[in-house]
Amino acid sequence: MAGNGSDAGRSAWERMDEGERQAAFGLAARYVDFLNIAKTEREATEAIIEAARERGYVELRRDSTVVAGARFFAQRKGKLSALLMVGKEPLEKGFNIVAAHVDAPRLDLKPRPLYESEGLALLRTHYYGGIKKYQWTALPMSLRGVVIKKDGSCIRVTVGDGPGDPVLTISDLLPHLAREQMEKKMSDGVTGEGLNLLVGNIPLAGATKDPVRTAVLGLLRDRYGIGEDDFCSAELEAVPAFPAVDVGLDRSMVGGYGQDDRVSAFACLEAILSLEETRRTAIAVFADKEEIGSAGNTGLRSYFLDNLVAQLFAAAGITDYFEVRAALEASRALSADVSAAFDPLYENVFEKMNTSYLGAGVVLTKYTGSRGKYDASDANPEFVAHVRRILDDNGVVWQAGELGKVDEGGGGTVAQYLARYGMDVLDCGVPLLSMHSPFEVVSKADLFMAFKAYRSFLLD
Ligand code: MN
Ligand code: MN
Repeated sequence: MAGNGSDAGRSAWERMDEGERQAAFGLAARYVDFLNIAKTEREATEAIIEAARERGYVELRRDSTVVAGARFFAQRKGKLSALLMVGKEPLEKGFNIVAAHVDAPRLDLKPRPLYESEGLALLRTHYYGGIKKYQWTALPMSLRGVVIKKDGSCIRVTVGDGPGDPVLTISDLLPHLAREQMEKKMSDGVTGEGLNLLVGNIPLAGATKDPVRTAVLGLLRDRYGIGEDDFCSAELEAVPAFPAVDVGLDRSMVGGYGQDDRVSAFACLEAILSLEETRRTAIAVFADKEEIGSAGNTGLRSYFLDNLVAQLFAAAGITDYFEVRAALEASRALSADVSAAFDPLYENVFEKMNTSYLGAGVVLTKYTGSRGKYDASDANPEFVAHVRRILDDNGVVWQAGELGKVDEGGGGTVAQYLARYGMDVLDCGVPLLSMHSPFEVVSKADLFMAFKAYRSFLLD
């Protein structure tokens, strides 16, 4: 193994004693449970706030009492949230922030999804985030999300994951008839308009037009109280139906859907909930919409962070808005997001000296971006040194890595949206295999090191 961290070339496993290994396995078991209940951004947000409430976090309000050790949460639209622990130092000195995202690539139902073709009812989807479309066919899929009726009532839909639940699926062409498909480019073999979910086959007796579609509408009405028009005010997401599980005969890894970036969100949640008190005010952010560019009022290009800090300052009696801006500028942040781990099956897209490796610890990525660092928040070396010191002082195994070869492609994180405030930001996350696929893989050692890294950073 290569690797380029504080102790280059050594597996994190070799640098953990028996106690740490056990802690890593314990953390991973809780993580698997988290992945299985938090398959959408709403479910993740709900799980985060529930866990925070259990640890004494209360909703931040204009009349909250802001004293050292106070614990607050804030959420927007059920999809974007933050946890805060007030530090001993004055708020004006800024915060230690760790920001992860809770949305993940998936297939969203279209506003008018349901149609019938030759005795089959299907649901049309529009994919969310960057996916390789062929990976999403011939899999058991569950449907999760909400339908909001005109009267404002919210109907939760969760089908496909419970014991005995039926699943939905997108059919794929048999090899026998796939000659033309197989000659296409992989990007064209399955199209966006071809990602339609099978949802029914029994016709409604006596129906003259679209009898299967009509029968499915009847089921939706009887089971959920929703009509066809209600789909247009819904967020229904098709996600893989199988649960997250241990991977490897040695159970060293976790495989499952949505680990970009719920692995960071979980590590970040565990880190902040493990704190009793901090020097600087600690903030854990759990953002939505990262996978589609952080746009919208639940993404980090919104004014959420500004408003959150303004609300905290107002509660603390500081109403000068300049103080809000100054505190944000004086803050330090880790952008907690996954990176692409070296994949031995696709060696040629990685530059071995500057890539991250599964099981070699948390990855520091100085810059992301693509083809000449375009759109990167290139971290200042002074801050990278600051983070290195924190990690080394706290026994965190880490490595330095870029996402792939220079001209091969690239990606981005929320780092640039935090950097706008003037705060220092560095990407720090878990290396991942099969990113954006229905079954992503992480190492339990890296998850544990991410937890330790975020905890040490928040405590600094
Ligand atoms: Mn991500
Ligand atoms: Mn991603």
